[in-house]
Amino acid sequence: MSLETEKMNKPNRNQDALNYHSKGRPGKIQVVPTKPTNSQRDLSMAYSPGVAEPCLRIADNVDEVYKYTAKGNLVGVISNGTAVLGLGNIGPEASKPVMEGKGLLFKIYADIDVFDLEVNAKTVDEFVNIVKALEPTFGGINLEDISAPTCFEIERRLKAEMKIPVMHDDQHGTAIISGAALLNACEIQGKKLDKIKMVVNGAGAAAVSCSKMYLALGVKKENLVMFDINGVITPDRTDLDEIRLAFATTRNDVKTLTDAMKNADVFVGLSAGNVVSAEMLKVMAKNPVVFAMANPDPEISYDLAIQTRKDIIMATGRSDFPNQVNNVLGFPYIFRGALDVRATAINEEMKIAAVKAIAEMAKKPIPEAVNLAYNTTNLKFGRDYIIPKPMDPRLITEVSSAVALAAIESGVARKIITDWEAYNEELRL
Ligand code: NAP
Ligand code: MG
Repeated sequence: MSLETEKMNKPNRNQDALNYHSKGRPGKIQVVPTKPTNSQRDLSMAYSPGVAEPCLRIADNVDEVYKYTAKGNLVGVISNGTAVLGLGNIGPEASKPVMEGKGLLFKIYADIDVFDLEVNAKTVDEFVNIVKALEPTFGGINLEDISAPTCFEIERRLKAEMKIPVMHDDQHGTAIISGAALLNACEIQGKKLDKIKMVVNGAGAAAVSCSKMYLALGVKKENLVMFDINGVITPDRTDLDEIRLAFATTRNDVKTLTDAMKNADVFVGLSAGNVVSAEMLKVMAKNPVVFAMANPDPEISYDLAIQTRKDIIMATGRSDFPNQVNNVLGFPYIFRGALDVRATAINEEMKIAAVKAIAEMAKKPIPEAVNLAYNTTNLKFGRDYIIPKPMDPRLITEVSSAVALAAIESGVARKIITDWEAYNEELRL
């Protein structure tokens, strides 16, 4: 669809979205009983007096909560509404459609149940106290749409203070998916991660965690230059916290984004729409990789980028162009794997395992079902297909089992899987 047609269709699409949410029972999710409720006998087991027995078992041994309740398959999607999508600090109520949507995605892709919780808690202490108190309820916590820099400290403390997996998806989801995309794009372009020169535009939650992931995958810190809205990040900046200063460049030939783009191999945008020009792309190295992930408008439009450089690999956050960096490739399966081994954390090993599983999957022959779902015939590993599509049915087995295995091998699993065939079979159901 051209940009013009798209603009004309926008009012319709907005109304359709409002109708979608308000039609029938308002919202997108509901709670459904999983046990028979047909007779008085059923009800006397579901509630008093029968329910007392599992209560007593759990009181005796708290781990039995996983046996007699839904805790082990229940994730809390929790936000304070301070950085919702690209919409900013719109408040907890206004974030609820997003959190319900996240719940819906957890359910349809990985059969994980979600309670979405939108909380009035802006400070680190308030937020941490609320979430910590919820540990008995949940098997895992997905933090969502919390603004930087608060989100870093909130996640750090909750990970340290809770014994269930905690992940801030805006940080790590994007890092994992774009990390997989980076591995494959560099492979196709014949670039080695430890040699590439990288420009990161943006220094927010997503940019910082993506950059950490790229370093973990082999990018050299001295080859990475980061920008925020005030320009290049250098050690002498006095307006920045340690987290961003950790990415300061000591190169003194870089003052502007254009300077940084000269001979850069990779551009990563997690900033704002249309801040990169065709001229900037022209001075990048041969076979450049450009991930322009600002939503809804990328740092440079897909069409302009591919017109400007025939040798480019281009990815965006959008579903209407090839190579969409979409967190849904990760979070359902990362939590699936973590819950299935009752992991006490989502650690670096598990994240890297997810990156590699996603990257490897893209290189395998594509099931016909995927071509059908996307109305294509010829999806094949290459410039226009560097990461799997969200509706690929292999994601649930490939990513979840890689994450579960990494949890076991890194010592955070409290339940061990030995029959992987049977586990994969269960995941396919
Ligand atoms: P954030 O925490 O608000 O960070 C935005 C960062 O971009 C800030 O560091 C800001 O600088 C910087 N910035 C804004 N305008 C800039 C400009 N013109 N030049 C350079 N830097 C600029 O937001 P976030 O959660 O990291 O997300 C950033 C963007 O990435 C959003 O558009 C979001 O939708 C997108 N995103 C996409 C995906 C995806 O595609 N899967 C995933 C996550 C995020 P200051 O620090 O100086 O304010
Ligand atoms: Mg989010």
